Amino acid sequence: MQSKFENNQDKEKLVDIFIKLYRIEIFKDGLDLILSKLKEKKLQFEIRLIKGWDTNQGCFLTQKKSFIDKAVEKIDKIFYRQELKIIIRNLSYNVLAHEMAHCFEFESGISLNEKFREAIALDMNGREADFVPLKSQIKRLMIDALKNYKPEQFLSELFARYFELLSISRNVCQNGDFQTQEVMDFFVNTTNFINKIFNPLIKKQINIDIADKSFLLIEQIKFDVNEKKFQENFNSYAKKTEPKKWTGSINSNAKWLNDWKKSNKD
Ligand SMILES: [Zn+2]
Repeated sequence: MQSKFENNQDKEKLVDIFIKLYRIEIFKDGLDLILSKLKEKKLQFEIRLIKGWDTNQGCFLTQKKSFIDKAVEKIDKIFYRQELKIIIRNLSYNVLAHEMAHCFEFESGISLNEKFREAIALDMNGREADFVPLKSQIKRLMIDALKNYKPEQFLSELFARYFELLSISRNVCQNGDFQTQEVMDFFVNTTNFINKIFNPLIKKQINIDIADKSFLLIEQIKFDVNEKKFQENFNSYAKKTEPKKWTGSINSNAKWLNDWKKSNKD
């Protein structure tokens, strides 16, 4: 199974966004899981223009496909395998983060109706963030937007939107209005659930090689978000290292990324 891109630029951009999401520490296991599923060819990305789907800009699909396991002598035994697909209409941090969160929620097999429900309720019921930009994003993403969904989708949406909120923080986008830590501080119980319950649960599905290599990648893309001169630093870093070289150095230290690119070549 291959991922579908309309052009090479889209592929490069997707990889770039994907890499930068590793700046959110709590996202590492989820991203590693996505890479593991891509490697196992159980998941594919597709970028194309589609209207009217989840968040209007992306969707996560699961499709049951039947196949006959040739290893089994009895041919009448038919197995079902889930084919996973993430379709992105708009290549941006929040869309990608949102849809990937749906994907690793699905892969985890967890019921959000238990511990996650408790955690998010503790964080959101009767509470508001002190910091106005964060408060308004929470209202937009996690309260107002839910009106377009059925109640049975609420928990899954809140789960995806927690990661979406993290993805628009300053640790990822240089023009973000709040820091990742501010989101995590407000959603203290949810963050705790992800760290203590969710991430350990999905770890066993992660390719060990990928998990190791993404640690190297994280070291490379670290920066200090508390620095006032952040923008300048970023610019000088970008200048110092030519774009070509920069991509090259990432690739050489993260062979899996190269492999992934190769495996996705048409
Ligand atoms: Zn969604």
